[in-house]
Amino acid sequence: MKQNFAIAIHGGAGTILRSSMTIALQQQYEKGLRDALDAGYAILEQGGSSLDAVETAVTILEDCPLFNAGRGSVFNHIGGHEMDAAIMDGRNMAAGAVAGVRSIKNPVKLAKAVMQHSGHVMLFGNGAEDFAKTQRIEFADDAYFFNQSRYQQLQEALMEGIVQMDHSDKKFGTVGAVALDASGNLAASTSTGGMTNKQFGRVGDSPIIGAGTYANNDTCAISCTGHGELFIRAVVAHDISCLMEYKDLSLQVACDILVYDKLIKIGGEGGLIAIDKAGNIYMPFNSDGMYRAFKKSDGTGEIKIYKD
Ligand code: ASP
Repeated sequence: MKQNFAIAIHGGAGTILRSSMTIALQQQYEKGLRDALDAGYAILEQGGSSLDAVETAVTILEDCPLFNAGRGSVFNHIGGHEMDAAIMDGRNMAAGAVAGVRSIKNPVKLAKAVMQHSGHVMLFGNGAEDFAKTQRIEFADDAYFFNQSRYQQLQEALMEGIVQMDHSDKKFGTVGAVALDASGNLAASTSTGGMTNKQFGRVGDSPIIGAGTYANNDTCAISCTGHGELFIRAVVAHDISCLMEYKDLSLQVACDILVYDKLIKIGGEGGLIAIDKAGNIYMPFNSDGMYRAFKKSDGTGEIKIYKD
């Protein structure tokens, strides 16, 4: 029997309300999600690996200025961009991550190069950029990353003296993908510009293996979005895997414990996308909305933004 395959993606969670969205903007978000979903799914359909599928989906989301990753990354305190990304292969639990990288067009590609060619799991800042030069990774200049509305968000955050989520209305915009391929392998990837007005080299949960990103063929693949500090403290992605592995809980029950109990108790707002080795997909969030989508080989799929 042919093994089923599936992919899920997210474009961030937070205070995303119908009342503050125009139809035109909603359509743009949906198109951004659909383009990434379809490209990742096409790889799986052709028998490609879940690793390539998540890399491709995240690359497309990084290239879309609507999302807080790659091109659309938020500004840090000094008006620059420092991006974090990770990728993990559930087949052998190989992982690669980068933190605080500047001028890298697609941080997910650099994370994958770290995994495959550096002999390390995580590189940060200048060192990661030097490594990128040895790997034919594409760089982009400041103009590529400039976005007037994000710049405005930084000015507001500076005036208020706060480190804020993607928008002043607390919208997270990180992107991520999880997939199961026809060979039964799971993979996960997450990429982000972090939080507006972040400083002192702040790194969120996205590139931390086990916090914002995790994949293990025996259990699940997870990509998170939300207030990173809390996701690090709750070790969200690995904890879900552990609940499945050691307590034999289902994907849904394990995710619910983290998203609706552990995170809530410490004030952790956000959500995640999850897939298990059988191809079940679950996309819970405790915020008002989360840009999310999935597509399965059984023909089911959806693209959603709000709670209902
Ligand atoms: N988790 C990301 C971070 O804290 C932010 C987000 O998901 O939007 O860096």
